[in-house]
Amino acid sequence: MAMYIVLVGPPGAGKGTQAQIVSETLCIPHISSGVIFRENLDNQTELGKLARSFLEHGELVPDDLTIAMIRERLSRPDCKDGALLDGFPRTTDQAEALAVIMNELYDRQVDAVPFIHVHVNALIERMTGRLTCKAGGHVFHEKHNPPKLAGICDYDGSELYQREDDKEETVRHRIHVYFDQTAPLIEYYKDAGKLIEIDGNKSIEEVSADILSALNIGV
Ligand code: AMP
Repeated sequence: MAMYIVLVGPPGAGKGTQAQIVSETLCIPHISSGVIFRENLDNQTELGKLARSFLEHGELVPDDLTIAMIRERLSRPDCKDGALLDGFPRTTDQAEALAVIMNELYDRQVDAVPFIHVHVNALIERMTGRLTCKAGGHVFHEKHNPPKLAGICDYDGSELYQREDDKEETVRHRIHVYFDQTAPLIEYYKDAGKLIEIDGNKSIEEVSADILSALNIGV
């Protein structure tokens, strides 16, 4: 059965880590807006040039650019049987745009919105210790989820690095941006009856088991 899922939560809640696990379990593509932006930056595309300063400062990229990028990605054939969105939408305007896109492309709406919540103090520690893979955007943590081989991604063998925007000052700003611009999404999806609250303070395995069981998927 096709399933369209949106993962929400503050930066550092573990969305990327959980998205990797859940999308693999469900065999649906993992679409991370942050990963797509960073690929565009690395490849110096037009979109990358337009998005660069927003990413560097921990600000949101303007909605028109972000929405067009996600529309294009969702229209690819691998999304016809479902997708897991991670990092999009991040504003209520983006959520409204997603409803239109889903309707136009697939004549349906997203099925469920797991909301991973984590204590604010833990967010900073999680992000400043995060290691990201250069090729596929896979994420690890130097203490809580270290790679098997130091500095190397378990999934694709590429090099791990610290994202520029995972430095503490930018992390604090990104958390502020989240509470200001993204937190209203929680009410939006609650009102739509789609929100599933997930305690993200538990271990990685417990959180993914909670998400999958809330989606009614036994593992
Ligand atoms: P992430 O990898 O999800 O933490 O995203 C990294 C950065 O990409 C964010 O700080 C924003 O600058 C940008 N970004 C990612 N997703 C969005 C979005 N849905 N809307 C606007 N900007 C975004």
